[in-house]
Amino acid sequence: MPGFTPGKRYQPPFMPFKRQPFKKRALATIELAVKGPLFGCRMCGNCLLQETALICPMECPKGLRNGPCGGSTPERCYVDESRPCIWYKIYERSFQLGREARLLEVLPPMDWEKAGTDSWGGIFDRVKRLGIRNLFSHLTSGEPGSVSQTLDSIFRPVRQPDWWQGDAKYHAPAYAEPVSELERRLKAGEFVFAAEIAPPLSINTDKLRRNIAALKEHAAALNFTDNASSVPRMSSLACSAISLELGAEPVMQISARDKTRVGLQSEVIGASALGIRNMLCLTGDSMALAPGPKGRMDIVDIDSVQMLWMLRRMRDEGRYLDGREIKTPPKYFLGAAASPFASNMKFQALREQKKVNAGAQFFQTNAVFDADALDEWLNELVKRDVLDKVYILIGISPLKSYRVARYMNDKVPGIFIPAAVMKRMELAEEKGNAEEEGVQIALELIEKTRGKQGVNGIHLMAVGWEEVVPRIIEEAGAAKSSKLRALKGGIPLGIIQPDE
Ligand code: SF4
Repeated sequence: MPGFTPGKRYQPPFMPFKRQPFKKRALATIELAVKGPLFGCRMCGNCLLQETALICPMECPKGLRNGPCGGSTPERCYVDESRPCIWYKIYERSFQLGREARLLEVLPPMDWEKAGTDSWGGIFDRVKRLGIRNLFSHLTSGEPGSVSQTLDSIFRPVRQPDWWQGDAKYHAPAYAEPVSELERRLKAGEFVFAAEIAPPLSINTDKLRRNIAALKEHAAALNFTDNASSVPRMSSLACSAISLELGAEPVMQISARDKTRVGLQSEVIGASALGIRNMLCLTGDSMALAPGPKGRMDIVDIDSVQMLWMLRRMRDEGRYLDGREIKTPPKYFLGAAASPFASNMKFQALREQKKVNAGAQFFQTNAVFDADALDEWLNELVKRDVLDKVYILIGISPLKSYRVARYMNDKVPGIFIPAAVMKRMELAEEKGNAEEEGVQIALELIEKTRGKQGVNGIHLMAVGWEEVVPRIIEEAGAAKSSKLRALKGGIPLGIIQPDE
């Protein structure tokens, strides 16, 4: 095990793209000899250790460079259960050392030309530019902030290349008029329902069209998943285009897992040109969940935070990642996933803040089965001053059977079903009315959730049981009117305010 990085074993180091001059090769060899045993270094060529409490993020089997995925747990990584979740460890140590604010900086994807080469050369260059004497006097001046400023002037240009320039600030969207109907309704203060539709497994779109037609009158927007659980289906882009054709507002989900930076930029330009205006940026489930043969599991080109950063800049600054101007930039309302019950809610809230800073305008959460426990997560978002910058749609998944409940609780990363709910489903299954019980549980969760501060809507995930969605929205809507009248005029919850 490396000295400072609590990963169990090394992943192999990256190889240089081309043969380097002798001096560079020698430096890379020395760097690997030192940082391998200490940090399990893979020689990514863009070292981020200063920002990650001296734990190498490249130990993450997904290669994520901006925080944990929605499946993180305190115990282990869901991709490789023999390892701890390295991002959980990074967050834990950063909070212990009081360095958690550093985790907000949006870190760049790898520059693959540098993979396998040294990071130290860039650092030595910066030191040379500053001058050894200056460096020494800044580090020993005793002035407040001098040490951190000096170190930042050396390390920041190395980890934040000109083509990225990530930071830890909030970037408000650079437009005023809503670009989508979903955004318009949320801005108008409407409590919205979105519903997820699983894309077809073949080119037959009959069922897809029936689902869209049945749901469009009830839901403000329809989400189309992007190869969920790493199982290939019809693309989210194609389903979104069909949805538009049928007059329903789509939310196109995009999994970073299946995209390179080139493919991603091309796809959002195309989708925006087709009129798709809502996009949900996800890292995506690992290939570990897929049926075999498995694809590559140890790296993704970009993560969801980087995706938000890139897409926001394409829209608001009219630039591709490589700096080329986009004469007519794309338009979209950017969403992200939130996973309140994965690992620690304090950690998740920081992750959510990072996504909002990068560009997320709405969240759709993982399925929630404990409405009371949600308050803790919302409180953490209040403390981070995030609630007025993002719309939150709480994920509700109607359980069709006890077997489905068991599967979700045991196998789906980031989902936790309380024992009382499991018991209800088990008893209902024995009596032969599990479906009805599942609907009632969903309605109760909606009722408990809708009054909470910061909650702007519900995201229904019926996972192949789409025909139940109209009933749930209708019954939840009917229950709403009386409840909402009672709530009007005051914020109802035990949620603390930002200055508390
Ligand atoms: S961030 Fe990159 S260079 Fe730094 S220790 Fe990890 S793999 Fe090595």
